[in-house]
Amino acid sequence: MNFGLLGRKLGHSYSPQIHTQLGSYTYKLYEYEPENIETFLKNGQFTGLNVTTPYKKAVIRLCTELSPTAKKLGAVNTIVRQSDGGLIGHNTDYYGFQSTLAESGLSVSGKKALILGSGGASATVVAVLQELGADVTIISRTGDNNYSNLEKHADAVLIVNATPVGMYPDTDVAPVSLDWFPKLEGVIDLIYNPARTRLLQQAEERGLITQNGLWMLIAQAKESAEWFTGTKIPNDRIRQIYKQLNVMTSNIILIGMPGSGKTTIGKILAKITGRKFLDTDTYLEETVNMKIPDIFAKYGENYFRNLETEALAKLCKLSGSVIATGGGCVTRTENYPLLHQNGTIVWVQRDLTSLSTKGRPLSQSGNLSDMYLSRMPFYNEFSDMTVQNNSDPETVAAEILSRLQMEV
Ligand code: NAP
Repeated sequence: MNFGLLGRKLGHSYSPQIHTQLGSYTYKLYEYEPENIETFLKNGQFTGLNVTTPYKKAVIRLCTELSPTAKKLGAVNTIVRQSDGGLIGHNTDYYGFQSTLAESGLSVSGKKALILGSGGASATVVAVLQELGADVTIISRTGDNNYSNLEKHADAVLIVNATPVGMYPDTDVAPVSLDWFPKLEGVIDLIYNPARTRLLQQAEERGLITQNGLWMLIAQAKESAEWFTGTKIPNDRIRQIYKQLNVMTSNIILIGMPGSGKTTIGKILAKITGRKFLDTDTYLEETVNMKIPDIFAKYGENYFRNLETEALAKLCKLSGSVIATGGGCVTRTENYPLLHQNGTIVWVQRDLTSLSTKGRPLSQSGNLSDMYLSRMPFYNEFSDMTVQNNSDPETVAAEILSRLQMEV
């Protein structure tokens, strides 16, 4: 049995990893230009397909039959070949969003929901929410309800982002400011890369319920796999795969005082897990072709911090890496969303008397305990987890992996 994903640019797709967990079949990526999809659907060697952007509508006329949901939404994301060669088109995004909403715990009946964007995913979200009795408004760049009159919707309780705004690689933007919406209870972003978009981070800051698009991606894949194989898959597989994928795609980010062992521990973590190791200081030095003490001496700390923020913006939007950061990166609050977007932030603590000061301009020039006292609140605020590095680095790395529940 041959299955796969049909789309145009699929390099970052998580679908193969998800389908490997859902059934014992081969799952390939099929990248085709629009003019070739008809031939592929007619003659391709597949038993079933998922269909993604930009072909969810285009494949409809090539299907011999549509499920009621696909017909209603005017979009197909799953195709199953029949024994007579016919192609049945399904839409499992509907179930994917239904399941996402259920997982979020938000109740929407009689409440105002704003859906950002008016494309294919928006139509699915609108259909699910209307079915549940929500009062739905679509915010579009054109039309009566748009981004310049958001004050009309201050009574919104739920926002769903169905635009690509905030998606990798342009992760430093949000489609709206949540300041407009004092009654919000939750925000769902259909984007799953990064795990926490700027929109979701705003929602987190306000203590709202948040959910990204990963659950939807896995839930729709589960229903697709059921159509592919004709076998029911238990719902709890969604949660198991969600946890696995979250761990796999999340960065492990090490923060802590200069000389606390972040680079040594980071390299060990990367080696054990087979992840890429990135060091923001090394990256920065290579980018400007200067050593950090020379940057400090020639241009001063502020200039260095600007470069550091640029380096963090570049590296922390990647997925599944181990990233060691410079000790002072926590002194800039704007660095937090960069680190947090895709990462679990681990504060590596070490006795001050054991900190290495070699090649570290601030550690050499000032009093380490003053530096520690001034930075401690920031390390505290930034970190998701703390480890003590007063034994050997291998033990610390093992502790981090065990607390992240990472299998190696
Ligand atoms: P789409 O058909 O291209 O629609 C996206 C809509 O977003 C557009 O119709 C547009 O609406 C709005 N938009 C596009 N560029 C924008 C910009 N620069 N600023 C503001 N609004 C913009 O795409 P889609 O298939 O609906 O997907 C939308 C998002 O959902 C994507 O991020 C996609 O990855 C995600 N998605 C996730 C899942 C999942 O399983 N998690 C499934 C499907 C889609 P207006 O013209 O009305 O403003």
